[in-house]
Amino acid sequence: MICTTIKDGVDCVFMSNAGCGYNGGRCHPITEQCEGCARIKEYPTGKYCSASPDPAIKWVRGLCNIATHIKKEEKIEALKVNPLKASKRAAAGRNK
Ligand code: SF4
Repeated sequence: MICTTIKDGVDCVFMSNAGCGYNGGRCHPITEQCEGCARIKEYPTGKYCSASPDPAIKWVRGLCNIATHIKKEEKIEALKVNPLKASKRAAAGRNK
């Protein structure tokens, strides 16, 4: 259904006759890490991601997997590092 709140005029799966059904009832603006990404769309309400209603979530576990301004190699390297295992390795005094 067509959004009538943040992204006015955009077809969105979260929009219904009862209003926006996304968490909090609205999309969330881009984060600092998003700057430079081609998925950013500017609306009178601010800058939002065209692919995610909450960009901050895309960065919680490392690099955003759909960002256009991050090189593929960087994304792969970020995926290889398991923070839990890295923490255990560091605690054990090992680097790899
Ligand atoms: S695709 Fe990722 S980096 Fe790009 S704007 Fe959306 S959340 Fe931000």
